[in-house]
Amino acid sequence: MTSFFDSVIKQIDEISNLLENDYADKKLFKKIISEIKKPQRVVKKTLTIFSDKGKKVSFLSFRSQHNNALGPYKGGIRYHVNVCEDEVKALSILMSLKCSLAGIPYGGAKGGIKVDVLKLSQKELEKLSKTYAKTYSKYIGEKIDVPAPDVNTNGQIMAWMLEAYEEKIGLKSPGTFTGKPIEIGGSLGRNEATGRGGVFVLKEFAKKEKLVSSKTKIAVQGFGNVGFWFSKFAKDLGFKIIAVSDSSGAIVNEKGLDPDKLNELKNEFGSFKEISIKKNFKFISNEDLMVLPVDILVPAALEAVINKDNANKIKAKVILEMANGPITFEAEEILLKNKKEILPDILCNSGGVTTSYFEWAQNLQGISWSEDKVNEELKVYMVKAFDSVYGVARKKKLPFRVAANYISLKRIVDAMILKGFER
Ligand code: NAD
Repeated sequence: MTSFFDSVIKQIDEISNLLENDYADKKLFKKIISEIKKPQRVVKKTLTIFSDKGKKVSFLSFRSQHNNALGPYKGGIRYHVNVCEDEVKALSILMSLKCSLAGIPYGGAKGGIKVDVLKLSQKELEKLSKTYAKTYSKYIGEKIDVPAPDVNTNGQIMAWMLEAYEEKIGLKSPGTFTGKPIEIGGSLGRNEATGRGGVFVLKEFAKKEKLVSSKTKIAVQGFGNVGFWFSKFAKDLGFKIIAVSDSSGAIVNEKGLDPDKLNELKNEFGSFKEISIKKNFKFISNEDLMVLPVDILVPAALEAVINKDNANKIKAKVILEMANGPITFEAEEILLKNKKEILPDILCNSGGVTTSYFEWAQNLQGISWSEDKVNEELKVYMVKAFDSVYGVARKKKLPFRVAANYISLKRIVDAMILKGFER
């Protein structure tokens, strides 16, 4: 199987073959592309803290800063046992592409700590997060590199990191971390932003393709932050959410589900499996949800859930990627051969980072926007990004992912040439 990092590099190679025609100086273009294929800086540090029992414990940690031609590096910090150098490098490249496509003034980065968060107490988690922020303080900053939450990190962790960072540098600098709690400079609307942004893409796509919302059946894998808000906003626009899942399995109703009601039930009963038993819903496995005969399939949980084992069985005509990397490289080839349309993650889930950009912009100016203002601005950015991808895809007869990568890579290459990065 192609590794995650290799599949990201393959994407860059694929797009650079297309882009090359746009540049007269082929030698310069090739030099720039070979620079884009590796991060500008990868920092690795061993973090040591004292456990609650007074024992010294060490953790491997990373920050990959891929490219800053378009602005300060930007990207999350994840806490997971599988965090490794190749993963943060690949994710940092994808962040450069995502920020560029979203039209926000950032480059791409990603950080992580190789840790099983379930084995740490709150106190230990706080110590580890503060140690990360202090250790990496000379590499991050509101005009240098702006971290955010990612897998297993959240607003509380950003608050601890901000405190440790500000203590280390001796200055207040709230714009150094985004995804903060509202009380300390987080943005209104950030919690719902990724799901909301995905629904702006859904709405624009439906308009272009003349899909009638009440006749468009959607299945959503995952009912966490992204899956819930996506399902709710899509239903509010009249789309038919006929299946949603969590890790226990999926609930199905051909007539349409009410995400708000399901959220209440999930809070009461814990899992969709329990809800199906207590409330008599039709229940199927997550594998079966993926192959339902719907119009649009929305993976909103994990990566690599559409792979060579199930790609040929997918019946949905359109896959709208809300999770990061839900389709493997091999599966994508099969899906495209089967004439499926894939609306890519770097477009569909960019509402999160775009609202993080609004948070940063508010922090730099010392102001705070109303929730309506955040949502209006988000719409402007998402519609613009969608229009550019849709336009290039249809004009050049390219899959949407290729069109999205083409636009974002071109912006990075142009910025590097203008700034003379390669000299
Ligand atoms: P989350 O932890 O809030 O929710 C994840 C959901 O996936 C949960 O409902 C969980 O039950 C479900 N799940 C876990 N294992 C599953 C399985 N095997 N089958 C089906 N469902 C399963 O996470 P989230 O913040 O909603 O993120 C979801 C995805 O979206 C991730 O890929 C994340 O990287 C991506 N993403 C999130 C944001 C954001 O702002 N939260 C932004 C961009 C991308």
